[in-house]
Amino acid sequence: MSETCAVKKVTEITPEEVARVEEWINTEEYRDKNMAREAVVINPAHACQPLGAQLVAHGFEGTLPFVHGSQGCASYYRSALTRHFREPAAAVSSAMTEDGAVFGGQNNLFEGLENAYKLYSPKMMAVFTSCMPEIIGDDLTAFIANARKEGLIPEDFPVPYANTPSFNGTHINGYDTMLKSILSYLAADKKVEGKDNGKLNLIPGFDCNTGNYREYKRLCKEMGIDVTLLADVSESFDSPLDGTYRPYPGGTPLEEAADVLNAHATLSMMLHASKETVKWFKNETEAPVDVMPAPIGVANTDNFLMKLAELFGKEVPESLKAERGRAVDAMTDAHQYLHNKKFAIWGDPDYLAGMISFLLEMGARPYHIICSRGSKKVTKYLQALLDESPYGEGCHIWMNKDLWHLRSLVMTDPVDALIGSSHGKMVARDANIPHIRHGFPVLDRVNLHRVPFIGYQGAINLLTSIANTLLEEVDRTSEDKHFEIMR
Ligand code: SF4
Repeated sequence: MSETCAVKKVTEITPEEVARVEEWINTEEYRDKNMAREAVVINPAHACQPLGAQLVAHGFEGTLPFVHGSQGCASYYRSALTRHFREPAAAVSSAMTEDGAVFGGQNNLFEGLENAYKLYSPKMMAVFTSCMPEIIGDDLTAFIANARKEGLIPEDFPVPYANTPSFNGTHINGYDTMLKSILSYLAADKKVEGKDNGKLNLIPGFDCNTGNYREYKRLCKEMGIDVTLLADVSESFDSPLDGTYRPYPGGTPLEEAADVLNAHATLSMMLHASKETVKWFKNETEAPVDVMPAPIGVANTDNFLMKLAELFGKEVPESLKAERGRAVDAMTDAHQYLHNKKFAIWGDPDYLAGMISFLLEMGARPYHIICSRGSKKVTKYLQALLDESPYGEGCHIWMNKDLWHLRSLVMTDPVDALIGSSHGKMVARDANIPHIRHGFPVLDRVNLHRVPFIGYQGAINLLTSIANTLLEEVDRTSEDKHFEIMR
């Protein structure tokens, strides 16, 4: 480039200054400043509400997720789900732009509903919102009723909808609101006095592991319990590749979902997610509605099976007792590799609760626990789990902190491994600490969403990946004299 057209830099930062700052951000002084940060969030461990709503929509038979809002937002949820599952997460959008923001999004919604209904022939469209229509106050109730009046969609075509403003809550709130909306829509007027269809409604909560969904169904089958697994994405995001394109694989059958208020019992597998859905069940049915921690680890799985046994008057079969024995054996074989090791973990409150329980069962220490959206109640709950075990002593819960906070924490007070989504990989590289990919999203490893981590088999899977990662690290870093064939 010639002298005359060279662009003058706004600021000049010398290589020495870059090196100084690179070093400084690893210090305790920087950590104190970083941990006091409030005005900005950097690399949060959560997604926005509509993403959770879209996951739910994919979990129902023949359902097309419909984003009322901007195209860019819809692309984000689609790409995050597609990259995690490596399956298409097809969804349509009303593609609001500047004029929609000024005049309201009704025309966009009309056009979107009419086109999507004609082009993609869904059995149901689940509508949810991005930030823009929420800020301008679009009235979904009126808009969808108007679309029916105009004849753009048939009167009886199911269009449940949910307001999912992203400036409030996270993906787990979007999951909850959409699920409640779909169930209340489908089950309206379907409750029959005195009817008990003998089934269990199981709410897994925001869970992006297709293996877990299959495991829930298998465990219920082993117990001899007929289950309606709600928002079941096991096929939607893990369907066979056989040369036939199916736009809506799998999902909870709509007929089954419509019968949820006649079920024998309802069980929600996460204490802090699905609250609105649980409240709705409690208001609408006299059948038992219970909430319990996800069956991550042996104790939580025991409680899950005992709860099923209690609700349905069944015995836990020998096959599951044998599975439990195998999990305990695997844990005994590997406990020395995890004993007293420190871990940093991050994710949703319920996921963290499960992980904490499992690590404590192994005599490991969930040392830095990062939750980027939670409450004092969640902190208290997680702290109570830590207090139950001597390995919880000295472990820290960092509520409403993000992964840039995590970086400061592990730079100044390191751990043996990180367990969490792919968004932590930069932290792991900077701190030179092994990173076990887990949770959502996992974008840089394959097939992990197919490996269940609930139930006794899930405990073995979890243990295998953690222990082997630690062993690999020992091999990778050991001196020649300690490089052994046996560990
Ligand atoms: S936070 Fe709001 S603007 Fe951003 S992707 Fe989510 S819905 Fe769209």
